[in-house]
Amino acid sequence: MKTIGVLALQGAVSEHLKAIESVGATGVAVKHPDQLEQLDGLIIPGGESTTMRRLMKKYDLFETLQTFAKSGKGVFGTCAGLVLTARAIDGSQDETLQLIDTTVVRNGFGRQKDSFEAMIEVKGIEGPAFSAVFIRAPYISATGEQVEILASIDDKCVAARQGKTLVTAFHPELTGDTRLLELFIDRL
Ligand code: GLN
Repeated sequence: MKTIGVLALQGAVSEHLKAIESVGATGVAVKHPDQLEQLDGLIIPGGESTTMRRLMKKYDLFETLQTFAKSGKGVFGTCAGLVLTARAIDGSQDETLQLIDTTVVRNGFGRQKDSFEAMIEVKGIEGPAFSAVFIRAPYISATGEQVEILASIDDKCVAARQGKTLVTAFHPELTGDTRLLELFIDRL
């Protein structure tokens, strides 16, 4: 049985924990670096990436998470988590974890589309289209060669993976559809 952590400094934590339990894995709310040792993978949830970065630094979870990923553990970044795991943020010098070779645009869908739901096809996921909830969502504007694009809306990449790092611009924990979570866990 796999143990999956959810970074619990800020943002949407409890829905992720419920989803993890519902697929038969163990979910842990992670607040301290010591907790990483017991994990197979970690979810960085949606929220506010600037606040989350500040708290990660404060609680010594920034560099430790980079070490965690380098040691072969999986990281699933959703929404703000997609921003934090990126290689760079478009138009910003803000530091990122650089776990996946992407450039991201924060709040990339603009004001009119602050929040929306879309049915999308996700590469590697069988069956009906995936219902994706976007909340002030970012998108991926550029990817390196190692990155596999899993889903896009128009020209905007909204799901991708590189090795054991998976990212989505939307919130898969909000719909009860656990197929993306299972895609993440299957690689761990
Ligand atoms: N707009 C937020 C950010 O850039 C992300 C929003 C979310 O996680 N729902 O941090």
